[in-house]
Amino acid sequence: MLRDGANKSLWQETLPLYQPKHKIVPEKIVDVLIVGGGITGLSTALELQKAGKECLLIEAHNIGFGTTGGTTAHLNTFLDSTYDQVISDFGEKSAQLVFQSVKESIETIKSNIEQYNIDCGFEHKDGYLYSQNPDQTKELEKIFDACKKVGLDISYVNEIPVPIPFEKGVKFSGQAQFHPAKYIYGLAEAYEKAGGFLVQNCKLESYESNGLAEARTNLGVIRARKMIFATHIPPGINLLHFRCAPYRSYAIAVKLADGKYPEHLAYDMYEPYHYYRTQEVNGQKYLIAGGEDHKTGHNENTEFCFAKLDSYISKYYDVEEVSFKWSSEYFEPTDGLPYIGHLPGFTDNVYVATGFSGNGMTYSHVAARLLTDLITKGQSEYKSLYDPNRIKPVAGFSNFVKENVDVVKEFIGKRLSKEKIESLVEIAKGEGKVVKYEGESIALYRDERGSLHAVNPVCTHAKCIVQWNGTEKSWDCPCHGARYTADGRVLTGPASKDLEIVELKDLVKVE
Ligand SMILES: Cc1cc2nc3c(=O)[nH]c(=O)nc-3n(C[C@H](O)[C@H](O)[C@H](O)COP(=O)(O)OP(=O)(O)OC[C@H]3O[C@@H](n4cnc5c(N)ncnc54)[C@H](O)[C@@H]3O)c2cc1C
Repeated sequence: MLRDGANKSLWQETLPLYQPKHKIVPEKIVDVLIVGGGITGLSTALELQKAGKECLLIEAHNIGFGTTGGTTAHLNTFLDSTYDQVISDFGEKSAQLVFQSVKESIETIKSNIEQYNIDCGFEHKDGYLYSQNPDQTKELEKIFDACKKVGLDISYVNEIPVPIPFEKGVKFSGQAQFHPAKYIYGLAEAYEKAGGFLVQNCKLESYESNGLAEARTNLGVIRARKMIFATHIPPGINLLHFRCAPYRSYAIAVKLADGKYPEHLAYDMYEPYHYYRTQEVNGQKYLIAGGEDHKTGHNENTEFCFAKLDSYISKYYDVEEVSFKWSSEYFEPTDGLPYIGHLPGFTDNVYVATGFSGNGMTYSHVAARLLTDLITKGQSEYKSLYDPNRIKPVAGFSNFVKENVDVVKEFIGKRLSKEKIESLVEIAKGEGKVVKYEGESIALYRDERGSLHAVNPVCTHAKCIVQWNGTEKSWDCPCHGARYTADGRVLTGPASKDLEIVELKDLVKVE
């Protein structure tokens, strides 16, 4: 299956492309249009279709192309926003409701797997969290107390499943793991069997809603009574862009020489944290480890993140081979809880599910349930908890858009001297760089054959300057997480338009 970066993930590499029944979008008005073929879009589409709604799911590339194919697929009720944080920011009742919602999610995943006979290596596991210094131990004790308050089954332990020195450890039960791509293929098949339309290579370019949602795509206009964005951040400029920050996270899957794979899930308490688990794929066991997260576009040497992860693991494990390494993007909400519900500015019939931090495997199914309830019953017990409109618009929202528009430099019709740029900038094959040239920024990339390509580095979404991601060979926008291929084509939203190509040819004649 194809993915949104140059590296290979364990999940995407081990499956062929999904082959849906349909290649064109239906002409009739559908009940619900779901945009985005990751775990959120597919689990929501299946729930709605089962609830009697006629659904169309569109995916810009192939299902699993985005973060769902680049995840590490822990199914947790223990979350990145710890329950002590949630209690202090939202109160104990809300924290209990968060726990209830994610616990139900894991049950839904398990029941989907049983009902649709999805062979995706699902296994229940315990999770272990351990401290490695006195400050972390204090933190761990606070987390322990809060987990007890919300009802999580947690206990102190003397042993952890990884060979790493620790001060204090806890075990929480009721966690799980699976092969995420095999799972979403199972969801897609069940959804299509239930009568749902699924169309790949169909990219939403713009939309509006006046009672009826109208989406313009490369395959034509789609009309739907309701529309859901399961694309992380929706296209266009929306309040949510200022409520979610994009992050990049790194994962590797290694074979161990001594076969001592951890039996359960383990997490340290550094910021960002490292984590470990084992998954068997096609008869081969892998130790999967992850971490080294940073804000998108805020690390110039992304390849070095893998080197750090690799050396951290090698300190504790006898690594025979690094079989896969990949990185992917997730979105961090400002107040720690996801945004699931009515899209701000479109409170009648457009919905969104985003801001899942590193817990989208479970939050996706919270979204499926919540959005299905909102659409079929008009309410959900989780509506206000996860309401995207819970935070009021900030003063300065319109200024932000304006400020960024001011930085736009129009390259249209402009051609730059290739020879001059070549003489000023050193770029190795396969590398990219944003450089200043005659007072303007240009994003340059030298392909493997040695040819230089130039694009305008101004992101077509909200006009920030993109940064080169050396390991995934993409241009990433640090503001709202839009990503582009080395030659400027949109990989992932919220941008809808490609980066503008800057002409470098024939300049000897021009000058
Ligand atoms: C390295 C890493 C490890 C993680 N590990 C875990 C974990 O262990 N457990 C956990 O719970 N969570 C984890 N997460 C988070 C989790 O993987 C994500 O939250 C989840 O996969 C998001 O799924 P999604 O369906 O919302 O988005 P995606 O899977 O990204 O799907 C969105 C889809 O929308 C499509 N799309 C975008 N724009 C358009 C458009 N305009 N038109 C049509 N289609 C469009 C994209 O092509 C994409 O396929 C991890 C994240 C990372 C980065």
